[in-house]
Amino acid sequence: MVKVIVVGGGIAGLTAGYTLQKDGFDVEVLERNDVAGGRMRSERHGDFVVDRGAQFIASSYRNMKALVDELGLKPQVRRLKTGRGATLRDGKFVSGNYAGYKAIFRAKDLSLQSKLRLPRIILELRRNKHLLDFYAIEKAAPLDDASAYDWALGRFGREVLDYLIEPPFASTFTVLPENLSRAFVLATIDYMFGGFRLSSFDGGNGLLTLTLASKLRVRTSAEVSRISQSAEGAAVTLANGETLNADAVVVATPGNHVARLCDALRDGERRFFEGVRYASSIICFVMTSDLEADPGIYGLGIGRKENVRLYGMAMENPKEGAVPPGKTMFNCAISEAFAADLMHKSDDEIASAALDELGKLPLKGLDKTEKVVVHRWPELVPQFYHGYIRSLADFKTRGDRSDRLFFAGDYLVGPYTEAALTSGLRAAADVKERLRSGATTIAV
Ligand SMILES: Cc1cc2nc3c(=O)[nH]c(=O)nc-3n(C[C@H](O)[C@H](O)[C@H](O)COP(=O)(O)OP(=O)(O)OC[C@H]3O[C@@H](n4cnc5c(N)ncnc54)[C@H](O)[C@@H]3O)c2cc1C
Repeated sequence: MVKVIVVGGGIAGLTAGYTLQKDGFDVEVLERNDVAGGRMRSERHGDFVVDRGAQFIASSYRNMKALVDELGLKPQVRRLKTGRGATLRDGKFVSGNYAGYKAIFRAKDLSLQSKLRLPRIILELRRNKHLLDFYAIEKAAPLDDASAYDWALGRFGREVLDYLIEPPFASTFTVLPENLSRAFVLATIDYMFGGFRLSSFDGGNGLLTLTLASKLRVRTSAEVSRISQSAEGAAVTLANGETLNADAVVVATPGNHVARLCDALRDGERRFFEGVRYASSIICFVMTSDLEADPGIYGLGIGRKENVRLYGMAMENPKEGAVPPGKTMFNCAISEAFAADLMHKSDDEIASAALDELGKLPLKGLDKTEKVVVHRWPELVPQFYHGYIRSLADFKTRGDRSDRLFFAGDYLVGPYTEAALTSGLRAAADVKERLRSGATTIAV
């Protein structure tokens, strides 16, 4: 049997491992944490269920849908009770409905000048339709010619940048428009205009990764410190000094770890991995004993203009089974700049800073806070910054690739679970093709 080691037990690595195992490979997953799941895990705090990492899944996640069906998890997928979004403007919540011309022209909060400029986006989407593929962002490399900040400011003006581009992107991806490519923003808007509904798994989104892990041989608390390859195979060295041999390795860690872990990368591969960057932030879950606190929306985007050091806030109440009756849970994303100041402070200090910022919003019930859970994320999601999509396109079309190393992770497709899962499916397909095509001496 051909042995494949998967390094990293997030949704990308688990999907790759599960797919290869089904195809008859001998798979072992090595995960440095004491549980698998990576950035798609859930944890209980009393009667509250907290989704660490991935907050929601979307009805348009087609590869996840197929996997969920295959695993028999469909009954556990529940629509959010509301997916309504809002933006903070002059300290108030303003509805985030800008879908279609009518909604744009009816929007009371936008100046006439912005309303007249906004349809330009429809033209830009139409003209570039053939380049916009949510599952293959590298096709948009020809549009990777400016940051979303420069593009939106130049094309639509300050108001659109501050209230229509920055808040939804910063709150969803924890990345400012300066650190996003216009290509990524166009591909995302195009995908969102296709329509989708938000859902989550009853009992927490970690159900998917837990279920996959239960079907695989996963070694937890197994930190890998080195991955090497030769003509005969690959070897993985653990931090405890143990070495494991395999025919191939799927490296499914965050992309910015790869260059450090793999000692025999090709020059082009190394250049690409050295350019992978992640947003870093802190997410705080605020649990209150008051239902009055629920403002009846799901997500709120907050631009820097509002002087609140949060990128956004989301409610956990719309998720089935996440919040006990009569209570409320907020989750807030601290801005990157403020998070950098707070990262090494104690949980209590971070919780108090987050409550101070939440206190600037028109929310009730914060005085009835029971508990604040703090999660530090040095690598929250990959930044699809100006220049990165060209580099990704170059990496994906490059012929000289390591024979025994395969790569999976959200940084290869997009900063969300469906992308990570898709990258796992592709890594598994690559392993099958390369190991079975006679590129190596192994017979399957
Ligand atoms: C706060 C937050 C909110 C998010 N919200 C959403 C959302 O609402 N919807 C959505 O679709 N997506 C969301 N995402 C993004 C989504 O969670 C990620 O894109 C996805 O889970 C990434 O999966 P992955 O397998 O690529 O990486 P990871 O989940 O990071 O998996 C990598 C794994 O590798 C392990 N590892 C790293 N180094 C080593 C080593 N040396 N040895 C062994 N193991 C190692 C890590 O411990 C980890 O388990 C969110 C992410 C975060 C952090």
